[in-house]
Amino acid sequence: MDDDIVEFVRERIKRANIGEMNEDLKKWMEEHGVEMEEKEEEEEEIEGTCEICEVREAKHRCIRCGKIACNSCFWTMLGICKECLPEEKLKEIKEQYF
Ligand SMILES: [Zn+2]
Ligand SMILES: [Zn+2]
Repeated sequence: MDDDIVEFVRERIKRANIGEMNEDLKKWMEEHGVEMEEKEEEEEEIEGTCEICEVREAKHRCIRCGKIACNSCFWTMLGICKECLPEEKLKEIKEQYF
């Protein structure tokens, strides 16, 4: 387990929070004709079996290790698999920083 994952997850969560809070800013930018960089994360067609549990159908690809994972083996909000970030580790990070 690398420590950089901690930094990565913090950034990711911060950005997710900002995304929710910035509705007003978005509106302001629209009114003022400011181009928003709409970054719709391209949904890649994932085909195959989860590379973590090797049982269920994979639905996501981890942006960190590149493995494909099913819903149960993946943090959808973070975009990373549970192999990169086990549940206990996420808990640890949350307790430390939030
Ligand atoms: Zn799985
Ligand atoms: Zn991963």
